[in-house]
Amino acid sequence: MGIIPFRIDGRGSHDCVVIDDAHVTSAHATTALRAQNLSKRYRRGRPPALDRIDLDITTGGITALVGPNGAGKSTLIRCFLGFERPTAGFVTVDGIDPARDRAKALSRIGYVGQDAGLYRQLTADEHLDLAAALRPRFDRVAAAERLEVQGISRSVPTTELSGGQQAQVALSLALGTRAPVLMLDEPVARLDPLARLAFLTTLRDAVRTDLTTVLLASHIIGDLVAVSDSLIVLAPGAVMFHGTIEAATTGHAVVAASEEIPPDDLVATYTGLTGKRMSLVRRPGTGDATLDDVVLGYLAAANAERTAA
Ligand code: ADP
Ligand code: MG
Repeated sequence: MGIIPFRIDGRGSHDCVVIDDAHVTSAHATTALRAQNLSKRYRRGRPPALDRIDLDITTGGITALVGPNGAGKSTLIRCFLGFERPTAGFVTVDGIDPARDRAKALSRIGYVGQDAGLYRQLTADEHLDLAAALRPRFDRVAAAERLEVQGISRSVPTTELSGGQQAQVALSLALGTRAPVLMLDEPVARLDPLARLAFLTTLRDAVRTDLTTVLLASHIIGDLVAVSDSLIVLAPGAVMFHGTIEAATTGHAVVAASEEIPPDDLVATYTGLTGKRMSLVRRPGTGDATLDDVVLGYLAAANAERTAA
């Protein structure tokens, strides 16, 4: 059993300790993705999209990046891709700062966005040809096989495929790069539940056997439990929670808002989906919080902090 300190938010106001089996090897694990004191402000006079974020994501496993619209999920991902320059601080991908060497950082990353990002007139086969031409290590055979298994036609323009199939083509292109890091920015947001499940199952099975590090932004929390190893809750600008899914659910409980809670244990009191007032509390070992509870509680805490500021 290992004890690792981690920060609940980007400003270091409530540092805490989590006891967590999954991190036993973390002393030896390498960092795949790091953000240090990362700030991104798009316009002067506007609140920053990211405000002094610290993150350390170890190699391997799927990390769900959850937060409301405008929380900064895409900004964070674009900083890792080198498409946004941090206003302060820096990020690294496999130790490479994309602000210094974007091409090198990008060579480590496979990316899927919210729109599959396919060329409308090209077939899946033509996309695979293009990817193979652009990325010398692109595994065309594996990518084609993945589509074959799912019965997705590689010979019709991708516009003729369903949304779910287009997302699968985009995922096969990203997986085919064999990049050590995959960044998925709300890839399933527009898919129906069955197509979402198929996409996430493909993802999980593809990365399970190797040490791929996946950052998966989503606001659909329910889907994430089955496929993710870790969770980051991003409120506008700040990291509110970062830990394993296990630590998120077994480390918290939901109690009636009337219950007396030691201030250090209280995350937030909020009105739940049922209309009842409730409190999310840090209570390791009780194991009765759902991922929805944890995310709602930390986002409520972020709102309370902003209101108080
Ligand atoms: P998310 O992906 O979590 O919805 P974003 O990273 O897209 O959040 O946005 C975070 C904040 O930054 C929002 O307030 C958004 O309006 C702002 N923002 C994002 N991109 C730009 C941009 N190119 N120019 C100005 N503001 C932006
Ligand atoms: Mg976004």
